[in-house]
Amino acid sequence: MKKIAVLTSGGDAPGMNAAIRAVVRTAIYHGLEVCGVKRGYAGLINGDFIEMGLGSVADIIHRGGTILQTARCDEFRSPKGREKALENMHKKEIEALITIGGDGTFRGALELNKMGIPVVGIPGTIDNDIPCTDNSIGFDTVVNTVLDAINKIRDTATSHERVFVIEVMGRNSGEIALAAGLAGGAESLLLPEIELDLNMVAENVKRGMARGKRHSIILLAEGVAHSMEITEELSKLTGLDTRLSILGYIQRGGSPTALDRILASRMGAEAVKRILRGEKGIMMAVSGNEIKGIEFESIINRKKKLNYDDYRLASILSI
Ligand code: ADP
Repeated sequence: MKKIAVLTSGGDAPGMNAAIRAVVRTAIYHGLEVCGVKRGYAGLINGDFIEMGLGSVADIIHRGGTILQTARCDEFRSPKGREKALENMHKKEIEALITIGGDGTFRGALELNKMGIPVVGIPGTIDNDIPCTDNSIGFDTVVNTVLDAINKIRDTATSHERVFVIEVMGRNSGEIALAAGLAGGAESLLLPEIELDLNMVAENVKRGMARGKRHSIILLAEGVAHSMEITEELSKLTGLDTRLSILGYIQRGGSPTALDRILASRMGAEAVKRILRGEKGIMMAVSGNEIKGIEFESIINRKKKLNYDDYRLASILSI
């Protein structure tokens, strides 16, 4: 094998750059040439390739986002679009591909793999909603960003004895809210995986205030319900001054944490080694402290199970 390509696809996540760096440098170390593909699968279809030398990934390990940029590409969902992508890869003499992204990215990767190009995936998504891996690149950073916001909001919540609803990302997954809530000592967690019971939340808030708590932090994953309606309802049920803070896009960006940089470096290097060993159709996963390869088929169409023990723990610790 002489040449491989690397792309980032789907939603951006902090640490994607560290993964690109690891792929490029490991590949060059092993005597391969590396081609960067701009804007995910759209770049494969449009032939948007750049040669990546050692210096091309200098000074990016600490940067959020992705230097290769990312895009959603509907054309790649059709066989015709993928044929175009394959043709461009053959023209460019690309023999294998590493894709960094989420669930959708691996669906595309599986299709490409079936067409004869070996593909290895790296999980990069802040949502941490990919099954079979403890963590995805970007998750630790977003949790720390949310934690920083909780700490700041807690100052004002305590000073004014207020209830704060903080909306965090997670349309179908409560992973971010659960981890940040456990680490931030939130009073209640409203997650898509758990049936919503606002009366119980209000009772918890009232009980906490009655025993001397000076604030209440309620973390709400965006997919649960309309955050303004929840806030108004809680205000009515508790009779307390209740405010809403929607964290929004500040959660996506920022310099990746050490944990994300290390995970990205290890997964990027391992992906190259697996390709050199002739492996394909797998995603890099972390279990405990070990990097593993999981077949795309085992990931696609499966939902990651929430850690209900952690959810119960967060409830117990906030009594
Ligand atoms: P993520 O990878 O973060 O889940 P998306 O779901 O948007 O993000 O997927 C990224 C890209 O992967 C899509 O824009 C599309 O090009 C490609 N993709 C997603 N699903 C499929 C599929 N079933 N077949 C082929 N390509 C797909």
